[in-house]
Amino acid sequence: MSFYDVIEKYKDFDFDRYFEQVSDNDVLRSLSKDKLNHKDLLNLLSPTARKHLEEMAQKASKLALQYCGKTATLYTPIYIANYCENHCVYCGYNCHSGIKRKKLSLDEIEKEGEAVATKGFKHIIVLTGESETKSSIEYIGEAVGILSKKFPSIAIEVYPMDVEGYTHLVYKGADSLTIYQETYDEEVYKRVHIKGPKADYRFRLDAPERGAMAGMRSLSIGALLGLSDFRKDAFFSILHGAYLKTKYPHIELSYSAPRIRPFKGSFRDIVDVDDASEFQILTVMRLFDPHAALNVSSRESLDMRKNLMPLGVTKLSAAVSTDVGGHSQGEENTAQFKTNDDNSIEDVASMLKSIGYQYVFKDWVRF
Ligand code: SF4
Repeated sequence: MSFYDVIEKYKDFDFDRYFEQVSDNDVLRSLSKDKLNHKDLLNLLSPTARKHLEEMAQKASKLALQYCGKTATLYTPIYIANYCENHCVYCGYNCHSGIKRKKLSLDEIEKEGEAVATKGFKHIIVLTGESETKSSIEYIGEAVGILSKKFPSIAIEVYPMDVEGYTHLVYKGADSLTIYQETYDEEVYKRVHIKGPKADYRFRLDAPERGAMAGMRSLSIGALLGLSDFRKDAFFSILHGAYLKTKYPHIELSYSAPRIRPFKGSFRDIVDVDDASEFQILTVMRLFDPHAALNVSSRESLDMRKNLMPLGVTKLSAAVSTDVGGHSQGEENTAQFKTNDDNSIEDVASMLKSIGYQYVFKDWVRF
């Protein structure tokens, strides 16, 4: 069985019709439950639930305090390459975008790691564009091996691999896998991924599961909100997480709900996801799974992240550069997208302190 079988069950389900007929009572009944089922999820993600967002947030905050406390782990991304073989119409890294391409040598990766470690980070996420030709599994493995001397936790956000590929990266020191489905709507997925290996919807969909089979201890999933109906994408993101946790109970499951950011390119067919909708989605994620990690990156402004913290956000990026070599070389022309928050660690720490939260640099160590 694959998560695809779960999606297939909803093939003929009329989401729009269901959302239209959700009543206030449906929302309140779902909100009163301790354990939410699929229909409860739909009720709480519905437009009707927007009227009850305050009550929903209060319950989510209580659960967050009970299970997550008031700390968040800070991490930062390290872009080691930006070559990409795909044409995703919404991304400035796509193979037709004409942006400057770059790939760090192993020495440069070591220096980039040093620059990041000096700032205090212990958790990093290593990114490349999606090109196995330019950024082979062996190259990523070498990079992880070098960085593992300085960082106890290394997540990778690269092209999807088979179990063998992920096993190699776990052996080299990666412990976490981040891979977003972008959209769970297969039709839209085909429209926005028009060229390259990424056009294979199912290979990507099953990637987190292959990561779990390879021994990744933490999986981070989600959809890129704005590509399609964000309520449906949030619904399937949450079900995907539940599927993975049921099948692989040892994993730490982390939800993310990134919204599309401006990029160099012409794709304008974006569904607007306003702040209240983003808030609603993270609220429902917390209500559905009080134990899950919630990750809010610097795609969101510092103010927005501050508002989201009481929902139990447990991972925050800081001091972010989306340029290849952006931490040690001052590179500024290779970015994937513009962040919405160029705040330093001190800025994020001060935001957290102002609402009674603390940050940690390390919440896990590899043996
Ligand atoms: S989203 Fe990823 S795969 Fe698609 S063009 Fe951008 S970097 Fe490449």
